[in-house]
Amino acid sequence: MSKKLTKRSEDYSKWYNELVVKADLAENSGVRGCMVIKPYGFAIWEKMQAELDRMFKETGHENAYFPLFIPKSYLSKEASHVAGFAKECAVVTHYRLKNAEDGSGIIVDPDAKLEEELIVRPTSETIIWDTYRKWIQSYRDLPLLINQWANVVRWEMRTRLFLRTAEFLWQEGHTAHATEQEALDEAEQMMNVYADFAENHMAMPVIKGVKTESERFAGALETYCIEALMQDGKALQAGTSHFLGQNFAKAFDVKFATKEGGKEYVWATSWGVSTRLMGALVMTHSDDNGLVLPPKLAPIQVVIIPIYKGLEQLDVISERVKPLVAELRSKGISVKYDDRDTHKPGFKFNAYELKGVPVRLAIGQRDMDNGTYELARRDTLEKMTIPMDEVVAKIEFLMVDIQNNIYRKAADYRKEHITLVDTYAEFKEVLEEKGGFISAHWDGTIETEDRIKEETKATIRCIPIDVETEKGVCMISGKPSEKRVLFAKAY
Ligand code: AMP
Repeated sequence: MSKKLTKRSEDYSKWYNELVVKADLAENSGVRGCMVIKPYGFAIWEKMQAELDRMFKETGHENAYFPLFIPKSYLSKEASHVAGFAKECAVVTHYRLKNAEDGSGIIVDPDAKLEEELIVRPTSETIIWDTYRKWIQSYRDLPLLINQWANVVRWEMRTRLFLRTAEFLWQEGHTAHATEQEALDEAEQMMNVYADFAENHMAMPVIKGVKTESERFAGALETYCIEALMQDGKALQAGTSHFLGQNFAKAFDVKFATKEGGKEYVWATSWGVSTRLMGALVMTHSDDNGLVLPPKLAPIQVVIIPIYKGLEQLDVISERVKPLVAELRSKGISVKYDDRDTHKPGFKFNAYELKGVPVRLAIGQRDMDNGTYELARRDTLEKMTIPMDEVVAKIEFLMVDIQNNIYRKAADYRKEHITLVDTYAEFKEVLEEKGGFISAHWDGTIETEDRIKEETKATIRCIPIDVETEKGVCMISGKPSEKRVLFAKAY
């Protein structure tokens, strides 16, 4: 194993980049801003996908698939939408290459110019609403509840593995409704689904809220979001759910016959989470030794490492381990018995610690003699000796306990890092010295929001939903405010 990770306290950003690569989650590719997700990273993403997919289906959604390419004219149909995405669009202009006549190599064939340029989808509202026009005629066709798992491209200038890449994997839900209220309820419901997933599967506490007008999705009337806090005190937008009003129905002329016999534009939502969640998972729980994974998302939940001299002794140990592996598997626990003879136990210990495997069992001659296993839990690094007949029960307990413990730890950290302030001077001081979320009164204007952003780099992460109204005055303008909002520096 190569040298140790940079410590979080030394350089958090470097620690993150090193960890993602060393734990075999992902690496940079030859394509600017695009990453290779490696098998171990992809296995975690697949677990996230499986659970989210289950939750979407449980709330009545079905999966479908729409094209990767969007004709430029479609994207242009909703004015604020195209304005928001224009700067990040990859555009296909030609469809063929050819050999250059002067023999200098392969060139784009100038004769193969597309009549209309195609945009590599940055998000699929436009192509989907163009399709919905054909699918929706009457109130009987509603609601239409569709999700797609896909890749999208946004030409980001400053990229970081998982957190912000030019191509990323995500899901995007696109729903159509007969009434405004139903669409609003759907958008709020999906924010709640995301929050449930973040808290109960990723063990990551999140704050639910709505975005301010300037932070809203291009084309949305309301953006619901979940915001998480990373261990360096910076916030991360972990998921968004948009109420789109009738904007896309109007742009694509999607009307339905109402029960009463009239014609009305359809109401819309869209919602998405991406591979950014992988970055959030890493940054929420991991430590200076490597990843710390919640048992519910760990591809390997238990690793068993034999400590032996000679293959004969290995055989004896393997015989003892075999029924344990079978029993754990029968209980739905994923186990790896690493009996590779090519690596030493110490190497394996480090490797699985780096990869965040929640529980490690080791078994050597002394354990064979005593009828025990040595157990180590990744979250607290505690080691204990467990009698063989208690090991399954202990592991079952730990699958729940580790999940809860890392949630609690993250929730405690967040609680300590939400600071109420009432003056701008205090705001700046807390932002520089402590970081985290700052809860303050704001007068609701874009001017104040912009000034704060310009002067401090902090943005309004959200107007929290689960917070009481509280009369106060804006820390900048002194104008009245009904509620505190949450500011932070963000990824
Ligand atoms: P949006 O469509 O802009 O609301 O984004 C949907 C989800 O994708 C949000 O949860 C974002 O956090 C995430 N996301 C947006 N841009 C990127 C990116 N460049 N890389 C990874 N995830 C992203």
